[in-house]
Amino acid sequence: MMPQQHPLNPRRICRDCHGFGRAHIATGSTRSDGTRDTLPVNCQSCQGLGTSPLRLATSRA
Ligand SMILES: [Zn+2]
Repeated sequence: MMPQQHPLNPRRICRDCHGFGRAHIATGSTRSDGTRDTLPVNCQSCQGLGTSPLRLATSRA
């Protein structure tokens, strides 16, 4: 039994990324201007949308 974190969310938050469809991963290196170099990575399940298609959001057996 999984605890239900979003019991009444109409937008069906993606259960893999919890709504954060696009994350920026720090590569550990810095750019020439001193800022951290990051790579944008989309969630595999929702393609960066942060919401799930209905067939993925429904986990009831
Ligand atoms: Zn996702």
